[in-house]
Amino acid sequence: MRPVRRFVVLWVCSLLVSAFVCAVSRGMAAEPNERAGDLKLTVVYDNNPYDARLQTRWGFSCYVKGAEKTILFDVGGDGTVLLSNMERLGVDPKTVNAVVLSHIHHDHIGGLSHFLEVNPRVTVFMPQSLPQSVKERVRLAGANWVGVREPMRICKSVYSTGELGVFIREQALIIETNKGLVLITGCAHPGIVEMVKKAKEQLSAQVYLVLGGFHLCWMNLSQVNTIISGVKKEGVKRVGPSHCSGDLARKQFEKVYGKDFILVGAGRTITIAHALPL
Ligand SMILES: [Zn+2]
Ligand SMILES: [Zn+2]
Repeated sequence: MRPVRRFVVLWVCSLLVSAFVCAVSRGMAAEPNERAGDLKLTVVYDNNPYDARLQTRWGFSCYVKGAEKTILFDVGGDGTVLLSNMERLGVDPKTVNAVVLSHIHHDHIGGLSHFLEVNPRVTVFMPQSLPQSVKERVRLAGANWVGVREPMRICKSVYSTGELGVFIREQALIIETNKGLVLITGCAHPGIVEMVKKAKEQLSAQVYLVLGGFHLCWMNLSQVNTIISGVKKEGVKRVGPSHCSGDLARKQFEKVYGKDFILVGAGRTITIAHALPL
């Protein structure tokens, strides 16, 4: 090889090596189109289809990236489907630092063991009321767990509502953004309007987006419309009802919210630009 050419090859190589070292030293592989301060929500498990490459199953899981911790909210019912969907989306389970479980139902926690086999280096935030067997499962997998009872801070800008509801105790995830609060719900058994109210009270802020299961699939049209007016009255700006929200409620929400209705299903990513403080 001629000296000049050899020099160019060496120079290009050294640039590639330093770029790699940079990416590794930042602690996570940087993805293209990703900017600091953006909040990225990816639904990795849902019974509603969105990205045809993914499998759909009854349940819910949402990957939350951009805050201090990378969070997996709920893990779906089937860990094999969860991990295969994540792989198809290019979402690395090892990037997750915290798992937040909304409530006891299998379609939200069933995928936990499979997930922890791949990544036990997480803290699992679960309702304190979950049985000891679930806590023990987490401990035996080598992960940490935190039993959540009261509203609490998970990391900078991210909170749990604490356990809400009477019969089925459930927590939701709140992310504080400069557009308002983002509320992610598993099934919303305590009532979606009630959960919105609690989130607003807890952080003294308006709700920008509510995403997840709203548990309206068993309701008739007039009951659904009452809930939608309740959500609207609370000043929620955008909605992404999925999982157990039901087709009727999704259709009605779309009518009322128009362009602020987000069609959510397995594989949908919602990016909120410049949402978080740097
Ligand atoms: Zn449920
Ligand atoms: Zn559910």
